[in-house]
Amino acid sequence: MLNIVLFGPPGAGKGTQSEKIIAKYHLSHLSTGDLFRKHLGEGTDLGRLAKKYMDEGRLVPDEVVIGMVEDKITNSKDANGFIFDGFPRTVAQAEALDKLMRNNKLEISGMIALDVEEKILKERIRERGKTSGRTDDQDESKIETRIRVYLDETLPVAAYYEQQGKFTKINGVGTIEDIFGDIEKVIDKF
Ligand code: AMP
Repeated sequence: MLNIVLFGPPGAGKGTQSEKIIAKYHLSHLSTGDLFRKHLGEGTDLGRLAKKYMDEGRLVPDEVVIGMVEDKITNSKDANGFIFDGFPRTVAQAEALDKLMRNNKLEISGMIALDVEEKILKERIRERGKTSGRTDDQDESKIETRIRVYLDETLPVAAYYEQQGKFTKINGVGTIEDIFGDIEKVIDKF
């Protein structure tokens, strides 16, 4: 069973590459950003709680995110494996995920990190903002905050997986197909 953490800053291409990974390896997509947007759209309490953080480009509190992921994993018993996209975003989330995996007799196969320089990230996010309808993609200060939050709070998660010998970084700049080709090579070794 494959359980992959797809990692990288906002705009690195995690969503795009997740779709390709799912199509080939038939994994279940667990994108915490998508789940929050779904809750927001449905007007649930969780959506209302998450909104104020998302609007500012800040992280939703760990316990809220972890509870939502736990629900999703325990309700997807038939899954072939998971692709975690945009999660874990803090070391506390990574520790909680390990615990959750152990409790469900599962294991993280590895983390694949998409490496993209900041200037290109900002260009991609602005471009996505023209069609995504995401307010957090359309405001320079929100884009800036999300990248800062990534560097301060999320980057240590890479070291967490590196210590477990589960970290691979790949170049996230190039054609979608070439990047996916590099991802396939990594996954086929898991
Ligand atoms: P994303 O679609 O992954 O860029 O996420 C959009 C927003 O949802 C983020 O800026 C956060 O406010 C929130 N969010 C998504 N995933 C997480 C997470 N794992 N931890 C905390 N906040 C998250």
